[in-house]
Amino acid sequence: MAWPPTADEFLRVRDTLAWVAARSPYYRRVLAAAGVRPEELRDYDDFRRRVPLTFKTDLVANQRAEPPFGEFLAAPREEFASLHTSPGPIYIPRLAEERGGTAVLVDAIAAMGVRRGDVAHVTLSYHVMPGGLRLHRAFEESGCLVINGGTGASRLQVEVARAWGATVYAGTPSFLAHLGDTAREMGLDPRRDLHYRVGFSTAEALTPALRRELEATFGIELYDHCGEAQIGPLAGECRAHDGMHLHARDLFCEFLDVETGEPVAPGGTGELVATQLGPRALPLVRYAPRDVFQLLAGPCPCGDAALRLRFVGQAGAIRKIKGVLIHPAQVQAVTSEFPDLGRFQIVVEQAGRYDRARLRAGTVRPPAEPDGLARALADRLKQTVLIQMDVELVPEADIPEAAAAPRFSEAIVDHRAKA
Ligand SMILES: [Zn+2]
Repeated sequence: MAWPPTADEFLRVRDTLAWVAARSPYYRRVLAAAGVRPEELRDYDDFRRRVPLTFKTDLVANQRAEPPFGEFLAAPREEFASLHTSPGPIYIPRLAEERGGTAVLVDAIAAMGVRRGDVAHVTLSYHVMPGGLRLHRAFEESGCLVINGGTGASRLQVEVARAWGATVYAGTPSFLAHLGDTAREMGLDPRRDLHYRVGFSTAEALTPALRRELEATFGIELYDHCGEAQIGPLAGECRAHDGMHLHARDLFCEFLDVETGEPVAPGGTGELVATQLGPRALPLVRYAPRDVFQLLAGPCPCGDAALRLRFVGQAGAIRKIKGVLIHPAQVQAVTSEFPDLGRFQIVVEQAGRYDRARLRAGTVRPPAEPDGLARALADRLKQTVLIQMDVELVPEADIPEAAAAPRFSEAIVDHRAKA
């Protein structure tokens, strides 16, 4: 779908809302409390100003109160075709016609140059959660021979991937790294004895350093992908590897400023809010998983006009510094390029009318050239995070452990006067 949405697209959103209001007790109540009658909504702005957000905590709390599915259901139980579980636990039933994100994955797989006859090795879990099975079906639909590797049993997985001549890896980057280590322990050369040509990386951050390491180990070309447990796969890289194209189908995605709630344009950074379109067993309307993305401006060299995103991080840890939204994960992507650096803290102070930002970068060992390291770090931050920060090198022990990934709860220390 286009962003911002066209008038025709808004009509589809409104039809879905009417369907949900008629069938889901939860949304019937939420919409009535907000005084919203779907047929009266005039346009997208009306929709976003009046229809409340649904947070993951709302879904969890409601399912706990009314187990197992809560009051979200919009279809009787005998119509369910399958049931997925995600951490919480959250129970997501599906109708037979809900393809659970497979169509999105087929697009993402095609964008990687995967061909009929490729052998795909899927290493996400097949147990309880939807990831492994969903990827498995998508590779089957793409004409691949698929190995249901799942998680664990890494020696067996190396043997199977080798024996079957797997050409496509699909799973987390950390498990791929583990397969490389395992192959070496078995006396194999991951580049020569395994034949991965391309990799579908998902469910974890693929940092530039990890990507370089894995590509060198396996001679593989990795494609980063992202999704969310409840709404499924969202976006994936094309061969240009410059952001992930939004391939979501039957999903209306909004990107909103984390402070003002206003829609952001390409070039800006916004929080994802998603509405599932069409019949669903458990529909989600204006669902906000708290994921923040940067929207990339301009066309992609690959020719695909779909919006491109870069995952920034979770909304809770984000701050506006010098007018730019900064997430600690963006800073970590930079510090991880320097082997001497570990945890860090960003200290923001008010200097007159302006913000001053200082990065306290923890060193895991004394650097050979501290001044050069501090300068190189400041330059890389300016290029990637787009603000100037003073850099101070300190022993890593001086940085609290709570500043570390993935929660980053003490990674930003804000001394500015509150407005
Ligand atoms: Zn592209």
